[in-house]
Amino acid sequence: MRKALSTPVWMPLVAFVLLLALALAGIQAYAFAPIVRDALIAMLADWRAGEAVPIGVPKSESQIFQIYGATTNAPLMARWAYEIVPFFAIENVSNGHPYPSFILLAPFVAQRSFVVAGSAHCEDASVYLNDRFLDDQAQLLGSLTHELIHTQNGNFCAAPAGFEGDRSVWIESHTTAATLEVMAAMCRYGNPIACQGFWQELSRLPRRSVQAKLGRMGLSWIYDLWANVTLRNDTEDAKAEKMVRFWNGHEAELQGIVERYGELPWETMVLPGICGGRLDTGNLRMIDQERAYFRVLGMAFDDTWTMLGWLPAGLLCAVR
Ligand SMILES: [Zn+2]
Repeated sequence: MRKALSTPVWMPLVAFVLLLALALAGIQAYAFAPIVRDALIAMLADWRAGEAVPIGVPKSESQIFQIYGATTNAPLMARWAYEIVPFFAIENVSNGHPYPSFILLAPFVAQRSFVVAGSAHCEDASVYLNDRFLDDQAQLLGSLTHELIHTQNGNFCAAPAGFEGDRSVWIESHTTAATLEVMAAMCRYGNPIACQGFWQELSRLPRRSVQAKLGRMGLSWIYDLWANVTLRNDTEDAKAEKMVRFWNGHEAELQGIVERYGELPWETMVLPGICGGRLDTGNLRMIDQERAYFRVLGMAFDDTWTMLGWLPAGLLCAVR
């Protein structure tokens, strides 16, 4: 008969197994903590954003207008631009220029029609908006703000000399982060559409972060289930399901987009900003003309922080 293990031998073994289990659970909790954090913020923001409000202007027109300094087929967009750009000066995005030379609201063609809301050229400060996304005024204000920020040069238009990474990711993440703060600023200044746009943006970024993190774990189905149950209505469910089929066979590409344009600006710019950091805009402001003294503009996320409130902001900064 084999002798049973005596107490002093198996006790450490059990303790070891228990400790290992605890450590693994700890690692799991550590891995899931940012997901829970971002899921909570996304749901809070989605709830605050409310329902989409269609914009009451006709879709793209072929008639061309001259509104202030802009040539456009969408007079309302030009007026909005003159509402938005001055905020860039007080939010330290730029010096508050240039103003757009050209704003075109038009149907984008082919696949871009479904996946691109707008584009801009910073060389001539021209902005193009996709009229498929006209069914929500807050989203349109967000897109216009985003594209106008691209025209403000600095890190919103180009990567610094010698930059070795993906230039488009650099430009998009800076622009995405700045858009959120400008929406917060406009909301705090009394624009209700901007408030809704702010919460939409604030829901989108952590949502993409959840999607990216679960995607890397091979748990995309949990993301879809969660989004369907908590964030989407029936129409949005159907739309999301349709786009999942569109991305079928290109999951790696979709994962890359979600990581680079959602998770990355959220983790590396917006979160540090909410927790007190500043966004390096790459734009200069003259401080002293005689001595030709300039300083680099750093954008604070103070309005974003104020919109969030100390409790959600505290949660975000505690789990980093
Ligand atoms: Zn962009």
